[in-house]
Amino acid sequence: IGANLERTVARVGDREALVEAWTGRRWTYPELDADVNALARGLLARGIAQGDRVGIWSPTCAEWTLLQYATAKVGAILVNVNPAYRTHELAYVVNQSGMRLIVSAVSYKDSDYRGMIESVRPECPTLTDVVEIGTDSWDALVAAGASQPDDAVATRMAELSPDDPINIQYTSGTTGFPKGATLSHRNILNNGYFTTETIGFSEHDRLCIPVPLYHCFGMVMGNLGCTTHGATMVYPAPTFEPAATLKAVQDERCTALYGVPTMFIAEQDLPGFSSYDLSSLRTGIMAGSPCPVEVMKRCMTEMHMSEVSIAYGMTETSPVSMQTRPDDDVERRTATVGRVHPHVEVKVVDPVTGTTVPRGEDGELCTRGYSVMLGYWSDPDKTADAIDDDGWMHTGDLAVMREDGYANIVGRIKDMVIRGGENLYPREIEEFLYAHPDVADVSVVGVPDERYGEELCAWVRLREGAAPLDADAVREFCAGRLARHKIPRYVVVVDEFPMTVTGKIRKVEMRERSVGLLG
Ligand code: ATP
Ligand code: MG
Repeated sequence: IGANLERTVARVGDREALVEAWTGRRWTYPELDADVNALARGLLARGIAQGDRVGIWSPTCAEWTLLQYATAKVGAILVNVNPAYRTHELAYVVNQSGMRLIVSAVSYKDSDYRGMIESVRPECPTLTDVVEIGTDSWDALVAAGASQPDDAVATRMAELSPDDPINIQYTSGTTGFPKGATLSHRNILNNGYFTTETIGFSEHDRLCIPVPLYHCFGMVMGNLGCTTHGATMVYPAPTFEPAATLKAVQDERCTALYGVPTMFIAEQDLPGFSSYDLSSLRTGIMAGSPCPVEVMKRCMTEMHMSEVSIAYGMTETSPVSMQTRPDDDVERRTATVGRVHPHVEVKVVDPVTGTTVPRGEDGELCTRGYSVMLGYWSDPDKTADAIDDDGWMHTGDLAVMREDGYANIVGRIKDMVIRGGENLYPREIEEFLYAHPDVADVSVVGVPDERYGEELCAWVRLREGAAPLDADAVREFCAGRLARHKIPRYVVVVDEFPMTVTGKIRKVEMRERSVGLLG
């Protein structure tokens, strides 16, 4: 990763590398590399050895990225700590990863990072060093590097291998407690490269990155996707804000925009949405969860992202393994998650027998190739459950491979609702309800039922100004158009959904709360 950054600097010269839109701070590629090297020397001066775990706990900021590349240059393992964590989860990842140094923000909005770190330190014996971004301790870290010989970083880089672990990324925790996917230079550098190569990136592209850096969408598909191509990384705000995102696209003349579907929904629903000049946009990536067709259509027309790409992946596969191509027609872009990525294999198997199912039938999606993680950090049992002896990563996602080699994701094995012996995919029902004019967002889960085993429960968020909607009205909307067993028995109107910081609805929590709501 370090050597690749240096090659980009040599190739693109003085082009802009990084823009922090809310502060106006900017770096050219040579400036970025110089700051990365200064920080890397600081890490060496602090005695950071190859393989040491260094945490980063902060909303999006330039220092996050400087540390990403500096740790890569010294061969330390960067541990991404979710900015939404509180002391319980923080202590868990610090101890689970054996973290030695944590680099953190002091505070942000209602997150008192300094206070939380202080309170867990007594129970975290490996954590011997804390550096705070934007304070004297950060400056001291960089200043300490001055004592290092000029070639100290190059000497360390010469000792590294592409297959060294370089990063522990905890999964989103959508289906349970986050797991520490351990990734190598080879895993994430190549995946970042192929992801933006697929959407035709060059050094002329400027990418707006509103997705959190803590997640692979930001740090791999975003940061590494840019630096491998000499493109510009534009950060609109420390955490996702729809208005700041659209403003950054407009003011920085971005050519590409990333997001999970809920972010695009928030941008399109923003009052004054049509007043932003988004005409510089050409492409982008939507990933992380299924995209409603209407949202995709508005991206392609009103947001000018006619080449927008859908990507499918998971933290454990660096992340992308399937993606649509710029010349794909609208049907492929709305009905599928694309076709297999370069140098990756996929197959769809019967989850019980493990045999490959015929095209057109659903089964568990499996992935193999350079992109499969090294394993879950110090958890050989979970690793063995996920990656089989032949190197196939079992994704837990249900997919259908079509005749044309494009696949669609029909749901997660864990989210599938079994009602009266019939397998129901919430995704299909959500897509249908989303077409209701008063519905802004919808999510469907199964709740326990004595008679059928499970019943469908839909959570609905209404558009502003919409008349109240009750279960009967929703069921009436479905009647005659959706098979009776797919019509949700329960409908709950809510103001918001339980979300992960990566913008996904936490169905586990929804299920628990539904049971409470329904008594
Ligand atoms: P956890 O594994 O902790 O429960 P998670 O699986 O949500 O959380 P991530 O690695 O961030 O953590 O997300 C990967 C998952 O996101 C995939 O397994 C898949 O279910 C879903 N996903 C990713 N891209 C898409 C897409 N384009 N369409 C539908 N689902 C997607
Ligand atoms: Mg997962």
